[in-house]
Amino acid sequence: MELIPFFETAVAALNKVKSAELGDRTQYIGSSDVGSCARKVYLSKKNPKEHSFSTMLKFSRGHVAETLIEDIFNAAGVKDLYDTQVEVKHPDHPLKAHVDFLFYSDFDNTPQLHVIEVKSVNGIPDEPYPQWIDQLSFQLGLLRLQYPEGKLGGSILAIDLNAGKMHQFNGFEYNESLFNYLCSRGLYLLDCMAEKDEAKPSVSHLCGFCSYRSDCPAMSVPQVELPPEIEMLANKYVELNSVKNNADKQLKNIRQELMDFTGPVFKGRSETVDLVVSSVASSMVVDSNLLKIQYPDIYPEVMKERAGYSKLECKAVK
Ligand code: SF4
Repeated sequence: MELIPFFETAVAALNKVKSAELGDRTQYIGSSDVGSCARKVYLSKKNPKEHSFSTMLKFSRGHVAETLIEDIFNAAGVKDLYDTQVEVKHPDHPLKAHVDFLFYSDFDNTPQLHVIEVKSVNGIPDEPYPQWIDQLSFQLGLLRLQYPEGKLGGSILAIDLNAGKMHQFNGFEYNESLFNYLCSRGLYLLDCMAEKDEAKPSVSHLCGFCSYRSDCPAMSVPQVELPPEIEMLANKYVELNSVKNNADKQLKNIRQELMDFTGPVFKGRSETVDLVVSSVASSMVVDSNLLKIQYPDIYPEVMKERAGYSKLECKAVK
């Protein structure tokens, strides 16, 4: 029984079914579009590319995470408090969002609307990415238009299935000026779709996963002739960086396996190795994104300049 060729087709079919739930995405701008690169949004709607098997599996990981969270909520008996994949629309423009989980009350039945945006990740970041915040803020804004009264909040639930870790970035609220900005981004993207404006590229950490990177003007570099010894050094840098990245990946996996064995606290010496795991107490830090959203007047006053530095990038030419 040959499973891989079967799965290559079956995963594509699964992704088609899942994206069909979001309707025809070429006809509207969604909450994941508003904070994204305009060029990528434009091309993914006008000229959709077949995703690789690996990318499709990663998409499926997101669906698996949502199903898992839903199963957990239901097992805990709160099924009646929320709906999933709730569509919210702008009254005047084709701007929409599909809310992963919309709770209508808190667990103690206090009425409120709470949006949960689920993100399946490989390593939980220290702070939510700006695109995640834009996505959630857009959802909160569309909900505020639909429900002008009452308590409304949201959170981003990041889940790392491999590491068995979950983190809630909580405390997001409706922010009118941010929502207005995101709506104007949405209208700009609609103009791009209607060929009335240019879909400009904007570089972010997501460029590495972009299917339109190969001919992206933001990624193009001028052709130059490098001295042979410099070219050799740059290639050596590429090679060592790749060894380092692979080592980092292996270290992360091995660390997880060791911690699965030891638990959070352990001390022991075998014939060849000392194995010590200790806990570092949690501490409080300022959440700069939340500060920016909730206290926009104070935020500029507590900013200080960070010294710039030279950034070196070497990549093998494909
Ligand atoms: S590579 Fe980056 S900047 Fe270029 S289209 Fe893709 S996401 Fe946008």
